[in-house]
Amino acid sequence: MARDRFDLFIIGAGSGGVRAARMAGQRGMRVAVAEDAALGGTCVNLGCIPKKLYSFAAHYADSFAESRGFGWSHAAPSFDWSVLKANRAREISRLNGIYGDLMTNAGVTILRGRARLVGADAVEVNGVVHGAARIVVATGGWPVPPEVPGGDLAISSNEIFDLPVFPKRLVVVGGGYIACEFASIFNGLGAKVTQLYRGEQILRGFDREVRDFVAAEMKKTGVDIRVGTRVLALEKTPGGAIRVALADGSELEAETVLYATGRAPNTAGLGLEALGVALAPNGAVVVDEAYRSSVAGIFAIGDVIDRVQLTPVALAEAMALVDGFFGQGGRRVDYMHIPTAVFTHPNIGTIGLSEEDARARFLRIDVYRTDFKPLRHTLSGSGERTLMKLVVDAANDRVVGLHMVGTDAGETIQGFAVAMKAGATKAVFDATLGIHPTAAEEFVTMRTATVAS
Ligand SMILES: Cc1cc2nc3c(=O)[nH]c(=O)nc-3n(C[C@H](O)[C@H](O)[C@H](O)COP(=O)(O)OP(=O)(O)OC[C@H]3O[C@@H](n4cnc5c(N)ncnc54)[C@H](O)[C@@H]3O)c2cc1C
Repeated sequence: MARDRFDLFIIGAGSGGVRAARMAGQRGMRVAVAEDAALGGTCVNLGCIPKKLYSFAAHYADSFAESRGFGWSHAAPSFDWSVLKANRAREISRLNGIYGDLMTNAGVTILRGRARLVGADAVEVNGVVHGAARIVVATGGWPVPPEVPGGDLAISSNEIFDLPVFPKRLVVVGGGYIACEFASIFNGLGAKVTQLYRGEQILRGFDREVRDFVAAEMKKTGVDIRVGTRVLALEKTPGGAIRVALADGSELEAETVLYATGRAPNTAGLGLEALGVALAPNGAVVVDEAYRSSVAGIFAIGDVIDRVQLTPVALAEAMALVDGFFGQGGRRVDYMHIPTAVFTHPNIGTIGLSEEDARARFLRIDVYRTDFKPLRHTLSGSGERTLMKLVVDAANDRVVGLHMVGTDAGETIQGFAVAMKAGATKAVFDATLGIHPTAAEEFVTMRTATVAS
């Protein structure tokens, strides 16, 4: 027998769950959220935020080195891992508090504990069954454990933030954005980083030229990227390090091995199968365009539906869902113009289609690209270069892909995402004045297509 009945019961207080709860609560709905870990989910506790803080930390190494070219002299700086960890933990716990306050102030009931569906309108938390008119599964994802002998010696991105001792040598296994970001971060902080990826180039799914360019730039910074490499096994050495045996017969040793080879939707033990909720082979909840699962009254958003695993996407899905429940219902998520950044060193910023995807989708495309040494590096002594690229649908002149590899690429491209969402054509880019002297101005000064079809 359900003890109470909510208009909306959300499982998971991560990016999507918190946003849905707040929006529904602000509209006067009776809302509950169940969370069995820290409030804020992956993004706040084990993802975007701590990772970006560590990326900032790593960039200081470049700044110290580059400052000499601008006349600064200083003793060799040293880095204290324990200070960074403690300061990060303090900031994250401040954010946990803010997330709690945001929901409480919106009238949301926060239930601390693991939730399980026991009916299409009932959720059990800590032995208490709560009734709900609608249930939203927003349980996110979890790192897939390595399937090699000795795999338990490796850590996932969940553990990397709090390593007791900073590793002198780090092996990163994986070629996705999380693997690349941690390779860059730990390289910047002073570890000797080897990144192993079994595919032929890192960052599958990104624009091909961007992949090649960023791999070359990461190598310049010191990351030893080895593609086409398969790990056979991990084992502890008598000295306490981890030995990584590779398929080509070679071996590596490191204090820490990070596996970042993928994340799987968090649906195990939720009781979904028993209710007949359709799941994809990887466990993702199958939903339609309105985030409805195959069982009436049960919905899912965010990483658990495995569409696009990004915080702003989970937020947008949450807002579209709640708007459909309690608002006007006209809100749709635009999966076409998703801007995203990869916080490698240098960063990647990308919006819309890669050159390859645009070529497959449109009859004719034009490509504009430039790569150059940014002004700052004329004195900094750094050999870093910047790549910028526009992909245009030749039929209507619309810019359908925009890519950058370079300092602060994520910051640079956010405004361009607005232009692209508004349907900006290449002619509009051409008619826009640059801001001089910036790297970003190159996006409005490229005049000659390098590929015209
Ligand atoms: C290392 C890393 C870096 C990332 N960097 C970025 C980035 O730079 N930019 C970006 O946009 N995205 C980034 N992401 C992705 C981003 O974190 C996710 O897309 C986002 O958090 C998804 O939100 P969500 O609400 O779907 O799930 P989550 O934020 O994962 O929240 C799910 C919540 O559900 C809880 N939960 C699960 N099961 C239960 C249960 N049975 N009962 C109660 N609670 C439960 C979990 O504890 C968790 O708090 C990163 C991810 C990782 C791992």
